[in-house]
Amino acid sequence: MEKYNRVLLKLSGEALAGDKKTGFDEATCIKVANQVKQLVEDGVSVGVVIGGGNFWRGRTSETIDRTKADQIGMLATVMNCIYVSEIFRHVGMMTQVLTPFECGSMTKLYSKDRANKYFSKGMVVFFAGGTGHPYFSTDTATVLRAIEIEADVILLAKAIDGVYDCDPKVNPSAKKYDEITIEEVLEKKLGVVDLSATIMCLENRMPMLVFALHEENSIVNTVRGESNGTRVIV
Ligand code: UDP
Repeated sequence: MEKYNRVLLKLSGEALAGDKKTGFDEATCIKVANQVKQLVEDGVSVGVVIGGGNFWRGRTSETIDRTKADQIGMLATVMNCIYVSEIFRHVGMMTQVLTPFECGSMTKLYSKDRANKYFSKGMVVFFAGGTGHPYFSTDTATVLRAIEIEADVILLAKAIDGVYDCDPKVNPSAKKYDEITIEEVLEKKLGVVDLSATIMCLENRMPMLVFALHEENSIVNTVRGESNGTRVIV
């Protein structure tokens, strides 16, 4: 089994919201925190990127300017990271929240060196605020940061338990892949992450492990090679 030294965990905003679909579901966040704690205790460096969909998406509004709408989306991811970081501290981890833009004393400005400094102290590092640019997503931010911090793999914790050949909600005979190449994901337009993020994974040979967040202990099991999800190989 492959041993991972450094992973980047991507959580969707909706996953944090539980059944309410908006805001935070504390019980869900505490379950995530306890699993990440196990990884840290096993000596794995963990970076975290969180989506913003439980508050706002750039495409939520058709009225206001897209750049401004995306800024609100990026700020939503900052709120999510501050919240989850505090839950992680509550269960006994050390954390830092980094953003690609200044948020005063609320977060620290992102740099690779700074992230590495915190990892070397055993802290979990949250990459909040996406890429800092409109027209990007937390998928692109995830792949970008994973490449920059030289993560071994991206852990994609989703509402669905892996990558399927078509949407299982629409087609009950949809087939789940145990393993698939990133080229196939692109060719078949499987939308594991958005297109820009898929191409970045392809160009920079960054693998992903896709699994269901709601399955018991799925983050830890995935890192230990006992996942029921899909391995996206490069
Ligand atoms: N966003 C952005 N740039 C980034 C990351 C996020 O503009 O680098 C904005 C965008 O408006 C997005 C929102 O933040 O809709 C929330 O991010 P997420 O990736 O969760 O959104 P989704 O991909 O679901 O639209």
